[in-house]
Amino acid sequence: MSTEMSTDANVKVVGDIEFPPRKVWIKTYGCQMNYHDTERIVSHLEGLNFSLTEEKDDADLMIFNTCAIRDLANQKFYSHLGNTKHQKKQREVKVAAAGCIAQTESKELLKKYPQLDFAFGTDVIDNVGELVYRAYAGDKKFAVTSWDRSDNYSIETKISHGSPQAFVNIIKGCDKFCSYCIVPFTRGREKSRTITEIVNDTARLVAHQGVQEVTLLGQNVNSFGKKNGESLAELIMELEKIEGLELIRYTTSHPYDISDELIEVHGKSKKLANHLHLPVQSGSNTVLQRMLRQYSIEHYLERLDRLREANPNIVISTDIIAGFPNETEQEHRDTLKLLDKARYDFIYSYNFSSRPGTKAARMKDILTKDVRGRRLREIQAHQLEIQAEVRQEMVGKTYRVLVEGKGFMKGQTKWKGRTSCYRIVHFEGETHESDYQWHWVDLKVTSATALSCQGEIVKDYGRRQGPH
Ligand code: SF4
Repeated sequence: MSTEMSTDANVKVVGDIEFPPRKVWIKTYGCQMNYHDTERIVSHLEGLNFSLTEEKDDADLMIFNTCAIRDLANQKFYSHLGNTKHQKKQREVKVAAAGCIAQTESKELLKKYPQLDFAFGTDVIDNVGELVYRAYAGDKKFAVTSWDRSDNYSIETKISHGSPQAFVNIIKGCDKFCSYCIVPFTRGREKSRTITEIVNDTARLVAHQGVQEVTLLGQNVNSFGKKNGESLAELIMELEKIEGLELIRYTTSHPYDISDELIEVHGKSKKLANHLHLPVQSGSNTVLQRMLRQYSIEHYLERLDRLREANPNIVISTDIIAGFPNETEQEHRDTLKLLDKARYDFIYSYNFSSRPGTKAARMKDILTKDVRGRRLREIQAHQLEIQAEVRQEMVGKTYRVLVEGKGFMKGQTKWKGRTSCYRIVHFEGETHESDYQWHWVDLKVTSATALSCQGEIVKDYGRRQGPH
């Protein structure tokens, strides 16, 4: 689409339509991938003269970026979408559904919710400009879920915030088909970008947008490049060469695909964070088999040992599903035992929730909500005990952190920074007026509990000094 200036300097002409300044409001549900997609949507819509608003009553365009994985997010979306009926009656506003639910159920959504103008899936996020153009050109009630079926995956990272932290998508989709997961159906098969493209993209973010920390993003980043003969390990070592890039993180990982080469990089990279989120999901081999996770607990623990050997400062976190269909008490106890062995720094734990269309949703299940709830509470309580011990080891040590902003802690507003190992440490400034936003500082940890960590400032390096 061509863009021209109108006689009114505030109006953009795109194709044959005039776009005056408009506001877009986006509600994002679910995971980091979705938040990153939202950033991309905002950035693409700037080309059509849209700016982001936090106030939905000011919006000319409302977009719901949906999640099909988390049940609560799912329910909230339907309820929020239902409410837009009143907004539509009061003023001129377009409403769109995006993301995972729109990828699989766009036609049903358009049928059921007359207030929806259009729906688009995860596969066409980068074509949102064209879709919004269509909507303003008068096209009604349309759904687009695929644009390009080729294996090539090429994008440019778009960020609209001024923070030095950025997400960079490196792979999309997933080929694993875990029995409880809807992602392969909503995000499609794995497609990776090339190392050259990602390195150029990141170098541009560092040079022109002040980015210092990147999180490489994908459903299974450990599979990155497999289809092109490239690997995550190689990518990290290439990114490491970018001057001004200080810290590299990646998420999410699949334990089956953590290669020896990648473990070695955890030992030798100067910029790779001292943290790895490695979702285990269950401590029981029989449950892992029913989940179709493709690894055993022995393999998983062997990978942890190797990672800790390669980098003794590495901190590990995980995801756990409590009460997978027909999980026995013994299988549940195996998960509690795993917590003792793995000594995670933190866990994200959830009750199993059935996703229509998955294998797990078709399993006959004898577990009740109460049993699931009790098991989740036991896992969380046990982890908190371990976590308190693990975090105690921080006391007296000094950590380099990137200060992310202010947070409320123990009735006081304090600065908060994140360590390379992904822990948040709160601290007070030297004076009331001190401004540490996006500074790198050394903090000595003075106290730590399972859920919070306090420190005092040792040295302020200002904005550009990295963690190493
Ligand atoms: S590896 Fe992750 S994204 Fe892929 S199917 Fe399994 S849980 Fe879903």
